[in-house]
Amino acid sequence: MATEQTPESAPLAQEMPTLGLGTWQNEDPQQCAESVRTALEMGYRHVDTAQIYGNEAAVGDGIAAADVDREDVFLATKVWNTNHAHDDVISSTEESLDKLGVDSVDLLYVHWPSANYDPEDTLSAFAELKDRGLIDRIGVSNFEPHHLDAARDAVDDPIFANQVEIHPLLPQEELREYAEGTDVELVGYSPLARGQVLDVPEIQDVAEKHDVSEAQVSLAWLRQKGVTAIPKATSRDHVADNWASLGLELDDEDVAAIDGIDRTERQVNPGFGPDSWD
Ligand code: NAP
Repeated sequence: MATEQTPESAPLAQEMPTLGLGTWQNEDPQQCAESVRTALEMGYRHVDTAQIYGNEAAVGDGIAAADVDREDVFLATKVWNTNHAHDDVISSTEESLDKLGVDSVDLLYVHWPSANYDPEDTLSAFAELKDRGLIDRIGVSNFEPHHLDAARDAVDDPIFANQVEIHPLLPQEELREYAEGTDVELVGYSPLARGQVLDVPEIQDVAEKHDVSEAQVSLAWLRQKGVTAIPKATSRDHVADNWASLGLELDDEDVAAIDGIDRTERQVNPGFGPDSWD
């Protein structure tokens, strides 16, 4: 017998694909739109942007140009630090949707827990946007466990994902454990450590063993840790190389070699980041 569906039990409009396309610093509008179109036509179905990247219109152009239906694309953007007051969250998100040329986004993140971010005030606006159907899910970014606890207490809607820097040089064990113990998905930014993973001998060895690129090794390692990765790639070759990581399976020996890397490097550490990173 079929179970009656309620809004709570209805399936989410679009699952979050485990590999997406990042777009930070993809600033030339034509190049940005072209890389988004290329990725979507290659099979990517997850695109990440942010108000501060200044490329939401170009990302929207790329989605519109691709031979892929909008509803098949998981689209995420982020509210910038200066827009964290309740009414600014609402108006800036409406502007984002306008620039992106879409009626709603699949995921809207608080970009950083900083400036005038306040769990109750900021997240009540996210809940309102969700009630209005302008966003499907609430996300946060650059949150530490204590920020996540406060956010989850502040709002009845689930916090769907925490987007943080994570790669073999910053394995984020504590946040991975937190994600495993809750329903908060981990989305990994700078999954190639902004190019640094290419020069790590342990990663080079695994890449050579499988006859693949170092980028693919880093992305496969993240996938096998249960982390969604959003590498930024501009050129078709990079977009394709990263996509090919979905076909790479690392064995236990490979994973142990990467887990054993004795070098820690955080790539993104602005002055307004959480104090605990110092
Ligand atoms: P990344 O994805 O780790 O690295 C991007 C760099 O790697 C670019 O220079 C790119 O070159 C190059 N690259 C891509 N694929 C490659 C491949 N297969 N082989 C060799 N080089 C390759 O760094 P990221 O841009 O910092 O992070 C990814 C995304 O995460 C961002 O674009 C953004 O969407 C998001 N992000 C979010 C936050 C946040 O605070 N929430 C912070 C940082 C990033 P080309 O561009 O020339 O292809």
